[in-house]
Amino acid sequence: MVRLAFLNGMAWLAAFLGAMSLLAVLAFHFPEYLTTPALRDIYTDNQVRALLYAGLLLATLTSVVALLFAQRKRQALLGLVCVMLAWLAGGADVSYGDRVRDARFYISLDWVLLDLVLIATLFISVELFFRLKKDQGILRRGWQVDLAHYVFNHIFNGAIVFALFLPAQWLAGILSMQGVRATISAWPLIVQVPLIMLATDFAQYWVHRAFHRVPLLWRFHRIHHSVEVMDWLAGSRLHIVDVLLTRSLSLVPMVVLGFSNQAINIYLPILALQAVFIHCNLRFEMSWLQKVIATPKFHHWHHTSDPHCLDKNFSVSLPLWDLVFGTWHSPRGQWPQAYGLSGDKLEERYLTHLLAPFRKK
Ligand SMILES: [Zn+2]
Ligand SMILES: [Zn+2]
Repeated sequence: MVRLAFLNGMAWLAAFLGAMSLLAVLAFHFPEYLTTPALRDIYTDNQVRALLYAGLLLATLTSVVALLFAQRKRQALLGLVCVMLAWLAGGADVSYGDRVRDARFYISLDWVLLDLVLIATLFISVELFFRLKKDQGILRRGWQVDLAHYVFNHIFNGAIVFALFLPAQWLAGILSMQGVRATISAWPLIVQVPLIMLATDFAQYWVHRAFHRVPLLWRFHRIHHSVEVMDWLAGSRLHIVDVLLTRSLSLVPMVVLGFSNQAINIYLPILALQAVFIHCNLRFEMSWLQKVIATPKFHHWHHTSDPHCLDKNFSVSLPLWDLVFGTWHSPRGQWPQAYGLSGDKLEERYLTHLLAPFRKK
């Protein structure tokens, strides 16, 4: 039974790896539209080719094994067709010339793939050694849906950043705060980064509370709370409206105030890592630390389905705001018994999650 579940999980994995390999080969064919200019300066050609080669081999292997032994033949076949197309389209040997011109609109396919490989390797390794729920596997219930959330929320990264900076620059222009902006942007990074963290988390705390309190906003945020298994991937389950509203309301003021792009670019990866970390299946109590920075136990209590402990621990990075506003909750030695929505449940399908806020009850 366990072996069959593992093989069926492998069929889903084959479909995912096959699709990702095909998209990665397409990214080599059309780098100006499918890769991120800032990232192209960081990785080298050989590094991404080696990664793609490994992905193609793994996708081929998993799809063949799943096709032979798993019940989920359709997913295995989809993986095999995708990976064959990827090989036929040139595999890891596609040449794109010396220079790639920058397109005005692009999707961050390279960011999705590289971030996924790095984050998955780091957090799955830590979870394997320090698991809170020992019987919870990597391919746990609902991982496909959360992976879909991860991919779609990351793929439009470029568009989201563009959508955020445009109103911020417009606001900065009409508010004419040149003096304040010049002063703040001149501060050293060691001052700017902690201040961004403090101020953004304050804004995030109240935006998050509003998402819980205002029924219209809860329609979107309940998607995040529908997850019933906590691990490194669970935090990806976010409706795109939730992502856009939270990011814009917390980050646009920082851009308007004049915090430098460099400082914001240091803060954003810290926030991304923190958001993955707090959902992890990790058993550490971290009793004193969970009052300084958000920890898995601190955020697991935010996801409890226990109706007596709802609406606690809204901070993403600094529990300080929960301590100040009286919503901090993490009883010593106690973890939530169950996670998810305390009322009506949501079907485990990506499209259902995307459309659920717009459906009549
Ligand atoms: Zn919440
Ligand atoms: Zn969460």
